[in-house]
Amino acid sequence: MTDTPIGELAFLRKLQRLLAEGDFVATYKFALLNALADLSLEREPAADGSLRVPVSAIAEKFVEYYWPQARPYRALDGTGFVLVQSTGRQAAVINAIAAAQSAHATLPVARAAQLRWHTLVTRVAGTIEAMPLWKLQTVGGERDEFLYAQAEFAGESIRLLPGVPAAFRALYGLVLDAVRGAWLRQITNIAANRPLLGNSDLASFLFGNERASLDGFRGVLRDHQGGRCLYCRKELRGAGCVDHFIAWSRYPVDLGHNLVLAHDACNAKKRDFLAYPAHLERWQTSHLERASELAQRFDSLALPHEEMRSRAIAWWAYEQGEAAGAHAWIDADRFVRLDASWRDVLGAGALRRVAEPRPPKYPA
Ligand SMILES: [Zn+2]
Repeated sequence: MTDTPIGELAFLRKLQRLLAEGDFVATYKFALLNALADLSLEREPAADGSLRVPVSAIAEKFVEYYWPQARPYRALDGTGFVLVQSTGRQAAVINAIAAAQSAHATLPVARAAQLRWHTLVTRVAGTIEAMPLWKLQTVGGERDEFLYAQAEFAGESIRLLPGVPAAFRALYGLVLDAVRGAWLRQITNIAANRPLLGNSDLASFLFGNERASLDGFRGVLRDHQGGRCLYCRKELRGAGCVDHFIAWSRYPVDLGHNLVLAHDACNAKKRDFLAYPAHLERWQTSHLERASELAQRFDSLALPHEEMRSRAIAWWAYEQGEAAGAHAWIDADRFVRLDASWRDVLGAGALRRVAEPRPPKYPA
């Protein structure tokens, strides 16, 4: 095989064909694509543009995505059940997570129970290796290994081929919309789910809701920011608004260090824009330099956070924004075209993206 990096257009064409023509029995293949996209943002590729990804890291993503989906989905009339994620029997990952949920109320609590978490992740990893990993790239009976090659599977990890991580980074929003759209269609097409269809909340049930469950962060952020809006630095008189520093529409995950408290008006003006470098610097000083302080507070309230991931996502977002000529928000209706100065801010914090896959944090 050659290691010529795949171009973005070829990547997109192949991905589109895979989603349109691939044979999807369970929804695992969508979760797998989602995981590969996310890990491409969070980890540093090798010099040749490839990226080794442990199956355990993919499995952790699966648990994260399926966690809310393993709970009963309720229609407007109050009826409800756990949505079926396969055309046959219920997907094994859903059953495993539902079992974990009977012991642990939330994902951070489950994660903290190291041995059980390790067991769950290992079981999910086994399912990934048995099911979607080697089937994902088969379309119309032929295999097109454009993402990773089965022959390169080693040490329980796959290697994303050169150009693939870069394509996921450049096209992330597009890829995520396409993958989640196909995932949603698959669920609505499964006959067993029909009795619950017609509820317009299905998408936010499956993939989360920007405004959901952020209230728990408010008190921590208010204290941490000294009662001031991160953007305008003026006092917060009302409750304030929990804002995703890197907007939810760019990266739809709630992680503590990416959340800031702002005035409703500041939040409304910032919308989904990147904040301009002076805001970035303030976030870096407030949330990254004092990351462990925040982490302790999040932990005490079982709120999800991963400092390194928040850093990696910020780096990715600003890098893509600079390349695309993004407008960065200053205040009110003022914007500035994003230049390279953000690199001094985030680069000064050293730690770029995660350079190497994290060492296993589980007992052997
Ligand atoms: Zn403000």
